Amino acid sequence: MADGTAAGRRRRLERTPDADRLEFTYRALLEALGPQQWWPHADEDGRFEICIGAILTQNTAWTSAARALANLRAAGAWPAEALLALPQDAVADLVRPAGHFNVKARKVQEFCRVLVEEHGGSIDALLAGNAEVVRARLLAIWGVGPETADAMTLYAARLPTFVVDAYAYRLAERLELAPGPRQYERYRRFFLEAAGDDVHRLNEWHALIVRHGQRTCRRSNPHCDECPLLEDCPFGQRTLGLTD
Ligand code: SF4
Repeated sequence: MADGTAAGRRRRLERTPDADRLEFTYRALLEALGPQQWWPHADEDGRFEICIGAILTQNTAWTSAARALANLRAAGAWPAEALLALPQDAVADLVRPAGHFNVKARKVQEFCRVLVEEHGGSIDALLAGNAEVVRARLLAIWGVGPETADAMTLYAARLPTFVVDAYAYRLAERLELAPGPRQYERYRRFFLEAAGDDVHRLNEWHALIVRHGQRTCRRSNPHCDECPLLEDCPFGQRTLGLTD
């Protein structure tokens, strides 16, 4: 049982090394929010959807990306060959709910072009190999950056990597666990080394961080008073006046 007094909270901050603090973070979020398990069982169509969704959700909420995905399916622009057969402006109309629709239409079609022309339309062929090989292959596709490539690698290919996003940067900084200035690969390596290569657990880690960031550890007005990480969070303790 945690010591809930201000002194107890300070003692925890002073004595705990980083690896233990990350483990505490994972367990506390899992206990508070429950298992998230995004896409626990995706078939070939599901893996394709995860990849297209990862592009569509860039800089927007998943609910908006999901509306764009539903439009593509409803219009018969699915899977890759059908999506490629449409003019780009027609795809842009369909993905409009995801925002930045012209550039996202181009990105989605470029992903489909590589899938069809270089991998025979097989998502399994595109995602074959170890995590570093797959991620490098995805990063070579125009419009796929590190966060998108890692989401595809972890959730579609089910290979071990860590998805670093704005929520992960913010949480690491507020917990004072940040491995340095924000730099994608630095954070990915830091979390991956601490979290290990268990794909199930990495799936949970990212999902829990996103949920926590959306619900509690908000950019403005975080709900520190109801946060399960408060006893280990210098930022939250300062915000509530528990420490100097
Ligand atoms: S205590 Fe506040 S700042 Fe710290 S993790 Fe929780 S919500 Fe975020």
